[in-house]
Amino acid sequence: MQLYYHPDQAHHAPPSFLLRGRAVASPEGPERATLLSEGLASLGFTLDAPAQTDSPRLRERLARIHTPRYLAFLETIHARWQALPDAAEIVAPNVHPCGGGHHYPRHPVGQVGWHMHDMACPMTADSFAGIIANAAVAEAATEQVANGAPSAYALCRPPGHHAGPERAGGFCFLNNTALAATVLREQHARVAILDVDLHHGNGTQDIFYARGDVWTGSLHADPADFYPFFWGGADETGEGEGAGANLNIPLPLGSDAGSFMAALERLVEAMQAFRPTALVVALGLDAHRADPLAGLALETEDFTPLGQRLAAIGLPTVIVQEGGYPTRYLGANLAAFMYGYCHS
Ligand SMILES: [Zn+2]
Repeated sequence: MQLYYHPDQAHHAPPSFLLRGRAVASPEGPERATLLSEGLASLGFTLDAPAQTDSPRLRERLARIHTPRYLAFLETIHARWQALPDAAEIVAPNVHPCGGGHHYPRHPVGQVGWHMHDMACPMTADSFAGIIANAAVAEAATEQVANGAPSAYALCRPPGHHAGPERAGGFCFLNNTALAATVLREQHARVAILDVDLHHGNGTQDIFYARGDVWTGSLHADPADFYPFFWGGADETGEGEGAGANLNIPLPLGSDAGSFMAALERLVEAMQAFRPTALVVALGLDAHRADPLAGLALETEDFTPLGQRLAAIGLPTVIVQEGGYPTRYLGANLAAFMYGYCHS
């Protein structure tokens, strides 16, 4: 299997985010890539960098899942923010259009509130360079699979599955998983996404909610009690042409591997009825019991049967890294998953 990472991803290194009203050190930083790559190295895997971190073709593909004004916002907001009187180095919202808002603002503060649905997406001057390189990594892994490889892995960080058509949230800016599905769609009429991150993939769901060509399924800690709070219920099943092409399985907080794998089996069964010919796995590792964002109770060894089950589906598959935050288990959790995926 070929695996991808680009050092430029480390340009996005937010120092802190707001948690329960406190500014705390962000768990979503370059250290994650170090820990994850150490886990891969323990199995003998090496990481390849994509030849380019940005290209007109990547931009065109991103424009199929994100709005033009959102893409322009991500690229330009830091410089426009810095031009404001007394602006902090970090871009962060202080006003939100609760209830939706009636018009799109021109002012940078209004645009930050429009495009960031929470306080977990601070941007520095170098953030966009890291975020676009991150998308290029997902694109490169997907092109491997599009060119005939049975599977490939993208070490994406920051994660992407909370990023919707024009909103950042939950550490996510560009939706790498949705980008992978978009590239696969160039060759496959029906593509499926299985999201096994601890959190509901609300951004991915939003992007494909009214589409019948990309099936989305997510198992996650019940959003009644957990981030992202406002999406992820079992009653969200798609709309229009996408009716019936979205499946959420919320799990009670603290659920263990037994419940997790039973939910996965339901997701796989529903996905197979859609008859996809290619798959994107949104691989969060934050369902581990020791994760700093803890909500479920998987052990390291539980990621091996998860990898085995996903490999056994037998579809061309892009594995996109989503969540999983620094602990002494993080690298081992990825190694356990990849061992299972490669020994199914
Ligand atoms: Zn997560």
